[in-house]
Amino acid sequence: MYILRTKEEVNYNLQILPKSNKTIGLVPTMGALHQGHLELVKIAKQNSAYVVVSIFINPTQFNNQEDFEKYPKTLDKDLELLHKSGVDYLFMPDTVEIYPSRPTLSIDFGHLDKILEGSFRPGHFNGVGIVVSKLLNIVKPNIAFFGQKDLQQVAIIKRLVEDFSFDVKINVVPTVREEDGMALSSRNLRLDPESRQSARIISKALFFAKSELLAGNSWLSIRKKVNQMFESEPQAKLEYFEMVTSDSFHILDSIGNERNVSICAAAYISDIRLIDNISIFD
Ligand code: AMP
Repeated sequence: MYILRTKEEVNYNLQILPKSNKTIGLVPTMGALHQGHLELVKIAKQNSAYVVVSIFINPTQFNNQEDFEKYPKTLDKDLELLHKSGVDYLFMPDTVEIYPSRPTLSIDFGHLDKILEGSFRPGHFNGVGIVVSKLLNIVKPNIAFFGQKDLQQVAIIKRLVEDFSFDVKINVVPTVREEDGMALSSRNLRLDPESRQSARIISKALFFAKSELLAGNSWLSIRKKVNQMFESEPQAKLEYFEMVTSDSFHILDSIGNERNVSICAAAYISDIRLIDNISIFD
């Protein structure tokens, strides 16, 4: 695995690859890698001749300084995991390489960045849009791989690619979960054992809501029960629990004729903010 730290190194190394039908797959990450990231790498390897993973903790997408400062860093383990997974290139730029100057451009995603994550984390999707644009311009992949775990981010990136005509295919990889249902996340590393137990409430509530919906129960009654579930978990504080159309993120209060429906949730477990979502028909 080659470690590349600058745009020039990426340019040089990827330019010399044989051109004929060689797809380059990019897996952008912020490090502290887990099986969820490795699933993206696995799917990337199946779909591309060369896999580039990036590790960059992007300051512009953090709306909370403490969250940024405390973001887990496990570089030695990351290197070992990526090496074992057969990744070809690791792009690991420093902040100045990505941001030689503070970006003045900001991206308005319309409705998509005004709700759920967008409304609770102002500026977050602008930062995501900017860094993903930069990574796509630097690496110039044919395919980029993103996790369904960050469903609203997927919608944002699809919009970005369409509106800016990026010449890249977006491949969405299903969420990898622990045995008890909890979605893998780098931030889980910050949970102490007790909080880890409490954190199960998020996926439990999502699975419960999905089965209740499929059984024909009303969203109103499901939401009430979910609120009660969270109230009985002292360490957990629910931020939102919404049923939405999975691409456009319009909030629904009943499924109606929609078939592309997800439930998205965000909650604090102690002081760690976690998100998860589930698709209703798959
Ligand atoms: P992050 O390092 O958290 O920015 O995540 C990098 C990529 O991995 C994003 O596309 C995430 O959606 C994806 N990802 C994170 N957790 C999971 C998971 N549990 N299953 C699948 N993909 C994930």
